[in-house]
Amino acid sequence: MASPVVIIGAGLAGYNLAREFRKLDPTFPLVIIANDKAGFYSKPMLSNALAGKKTAETLVMKSAEKMAEELNAIIRADTEVVGVDLASKLLLLSDGQAQPYRDLVLAVGAQPVRLRLGGDAADEVLSVNHIEDFAVFAQSLEGAKRIAVIGGGLIGCEFANDLLAREIAPVVVEAGAWPLPGLLPDVAGAWFAARLTQSGVRFVLNTTAKAVDKAGAGYKVTLSTGEVLEVDCVLSAVGLHPNTALAEAAGLHVNKGVAVDRQLRTSNPNVFALGDCAEVETIHLPYVMPLMHAARTLAQVLAGKDDVALAYPAMPVLVKTPSCATIVAPPAHGALGEWQVQTAEDAMEAHFVGADGQLLGFALLGAATKQRQILSAKLPPVLA
Ligand code: FAD
Repeated sequence: MASPVVIIGAGLAGYNLAREFRKLDPTFPLVIIANDKAGFYSKPMLSNALAGKKTAETLVMKSAEKMAEELNAIIRADTEVVGVDLASKLLLLSDGQAQPYRDLVLAVGAQPVRLRLGGDAADEVLSVNHIEDFAVFAQSLEGAKRIAVIGGGLIGCEFANDLLAREIAPVVVEAGAWPLPGLLPDVAGAWFAARLTQSGVRFVLNTTAKAVDKAGAGYKVTLSTGEVLEVDCVLSAVGLHPNTALAEAAGLHVNKGVAVDRQLRTSNPNVFALGDCAEVETIHLPYVMPLMHAARTLAQVLAGKDDVALAYPAMPVLVKTPSCATIVAPPAHGALGEWQVQTAEDAMEAHFVGADGQLLGFALLGAATKQRQILSAKLPPVLA
C-alpha cells in the first residue's frame, strides 16, 4: 500500500484540509493523528459558548469515528507525534509505533503564552485554546461570581462579554490604554470599552497582573498598581505561540511559525504546514478564514496540482462581543497611514488610510458594522 498523506492535528486546519483533499481525491490513503480526542468542533465557539448554553460535550459536532467515516480516513486520536524523521519519511508516535508518510502536513496549532506571574497559585491560572481547556474553565465557573481576565485582546474581551451571560462579573486587566489595542485606534477602543463597561465588564487599563495567590476557595490577583482583585477564577488570554517544537526538532525552517511558501511547503519538499502553527511568507494569521484559504490551496498541491499559489483576500474578523458589535480588518504590520474616525451616537467607523488615500484597514463598531462589505471590497488583498 502507498504511504499515506498524514495530517498531524485534528483542529479546524487539519479537518478543513482533509475535507478539501477528499473533494479532489476520494480514495488516496489519509491518516490524521491528534493528541486529543479528535472530535470536530468550531474553536471560535469557545468564547461565546456560555451565552449559547453550550458545554464542552455539546460543542463537539462530530466524533472522531464519524469524521473518519466521512473523510474515508484513519484517525489516530490520543496519539502524540513525538518526532519526525525527514530522511526516512517516518513519524515517531507516543505509543512507540512508527507511521510512514508520502506527504506530511503539520496542523498542530498554537499554545497560550504563559505569563511569568508570582504567587502560590500562578500555576492555577487557566487559558482556553482547546475544547478540553474549555471543559476545565466551565467547571471552574460553578458558583463563581467574579473572574479576572488577564489580557484585553480579542479572546479576553470575548470571554469577558460571554461571562455576563452567566451573571459573573469579569475584570479585564489590560497593559494597554484601551481594549483590543492591536486592532482598534484609541478612540474606538474607548468607545468599545464604554459599551462593555455599561454591560458589566470592568476594565483595569495600563495595568499588568503581577501575582496570583490562593485566598480561601478563590484567588487574590495583585496588579502592578498595587490593587488586589479578589476573584473565584483567573483566566489568562495574553496571546498564542505557534507550536513549532516538532518542526524545529526535525530541522525545518521556523521563524515565529513554521515557515512555508505559497504552496504551504516547508523547507522540506514533502512536509507542509497550515493553520495557527504556520506562517506564509512571514504572514502569521491565527484565524479561520486564512486557514480555509490555505486548506483549499494545499489540497490541490497534495492532489498533484503544481501550478497553484495561495492568495489571501482582505479577511475582516468579527469580534464576538454582543455588547458592542465589532468588525476589524487591521492594516498589515508596519503599514504607513493614519486612522480617520467618524462617530455617531450608535456607530463608530475608523478607516486606516495610506498617504495615497488607499484604505488599508478598518474598525467598525455598533451600527457601523453594516459597512463591512462595502469597505472590505476597497481593501487591498492581504497576499496578492
Ligand atoms: P488547533 O485547533 O489548535 O489544532 C491543533 C491540533 O493539533 C489539535 O488537534 C492538537 O491536539 C493537535 N496536536 C498538536 N501537537 C500535536 C502532536 N505533537 N501530535 C499530535 N497532535 C498534535 N478565529 C476567527 O477567525 N474568528 C473567531 O471568532 C475566532 N474566535 C476564537 C476564539 C477562541 C476562544 C480561540 C482560542 C480562537 C479563536 N479564533 C478565531 C482562532 C481560530 O479558532 C484558530 O485560528 C483555529 O481554530 C486554529 O486551528 P488549528 O487547526 O490551526 O489549531
